[in-house]
Amino acid sequence: MKAKEFKNGRIFMGRLAYDADLLEDILNFAREKKVKTAYFSALGAAKKVVLAYYQQEAKAYQELTFDRHMEIVSCFGNITSKDGKPHIHAHGVFADEQGQSLGGHIQPDTILFAGEIVLQELIGEELEREHDPVTGLFLWKI
Ligand code: ZN
Repeated sequence: MKAKEFKNGRIFMGRLAYDADLLEDILNFAREKKVKTAYFSALGAAKKVVLAYYQQEAKAYQELTFDRHMEIVSCFGNITSKDGKPHIHAHGVFADEQGQSLGGHIQPDTILFAGEIVLQELIGEELEREHDPVTGLFLWKI
């Protein structure tokens, strides 16, 4: 493992916006507060969920859309930089009315019903993403 060291910055506890795109709502807040690096966890409910599953052999994301109401059982993610701009990466577990869950890499167009978030800002050198030829993913440049 390789890592960069950070110190804790501000901690925000927030309410996510009704009918907003989950990723955009968090990213807009981070831009507004000038948070460059952070991690967060969230819970709540979504009106629509769009996930991606990374096909490791093909090095490509397969998108999965669930156009139904689901609980956000767990959502965990981070904010770092990609091409000099704030970039959000989040994974989540969502449950339906039967309590059955599914999960994956959260994509744009995941629409919120309600949500609560705790976001921890991290202070340190900017953490940039770069293309990794081995995995095909944009990983942290460390
Ligand atoms: Zn991911």
